[in-house]
Amino acid sequence: MSEHPPVRTVRIGSIDVGSDHVWMIGGPCAVEDRDGLLTIARSVRASGADALRGGAFKPRTSPRSFQGLGHEGLALLEAARSETGLPIVTEVLDPRDVEDVAAVADVVQIGARNMANSVLLREVGRAGRPVLLKRGFGATVDELLHAADYILDAGNQDVILCERGIRSFETSTRFMLDLGAIPVLRQRTSLPVIVDPSHAAGDASLVVPLARAAVAAGADGIMMEVHHDPSAALSDAQQSLSLAQYEQAVREIASVASSVGRSLSHLSTASTLA
Ligand code: PEP
Ligand code: MN
Repeated sequence: MSEHPPVRTVRIGSIDVGSDHVWMIGGPCAVEDRDGLLTIARSVRASGADALRGGAFKPRTSPRSFQGLGHEGLALLEAARSETGLPIVTEVLDPRDVEDVAAVADVVQIGARNMANSVLLREVGRAGRPVLLKRGFGATVDELLHAADYILDAGNQDVILCERGIRSFETSTRFMLDLGAIPVLRQRTSLPVIVDPSHAAGDASLVVPLARAAVAAGADGIMMEVHHDPSAALSDAQQSLSLAQYEQAVREIASVASSVGRSLSHLSTASTLA
């Protein structure tokens, strides 16, 4: 057995990502409106989320799909944090927006489509905020690690990696979640590794089993898409969990976490047994 480098934890709010706590992030694919975002934020917090996700700038396959609210979305995320205290995870697409996104985000996300955008990586490396770097769906583990080096070399050590599924010949899931990447990354890097089962699954009914498997394989966190009215979501409706499904998901993930010697921050032992 090879020696694993110790995980270098990244502090987000009150959680050390990479510690024994499995970091839980929940929220909509996109920020859509104030009431919806606040409803989701309050609910995921009550269910045990440690952070709120939500895209203000959305990377969409078609330019005619909803592109996000942009700066207005950032303001809504700020309001959701002031009301709930949840740290914010949100994506930046354009180097010109890094400063504005970093001013609001507790964690700046680089999405799969931008993993190899070295200009953007260098820019977030200088932004003074923790970065969530998602693996490109056509990228190898090596390429993900090289992408992380751009951020690290720019002076930012607070990098969290995210496996979110890669393209394969299989079409029954949206992407193929590469669970093997979790122990591989554990051997190759000291950066924390989280998993996004939502974009891998593409379907809400498949998200929780993938999340449970990810925690069993050693994931340091789980990011899932949640919506108060999934069928009406403006993006990724099919894979969004309802508020009740998120609550149940957190409980199920907590029980797997406890079986691998880890825990979720907000849940007492009693509620994980429910
Ligand atoms: C997201 O998390 O909002 C997202 C767009 O995911 P990905 O970049 O993994 O497709
Ligand atoms: Mn999405």
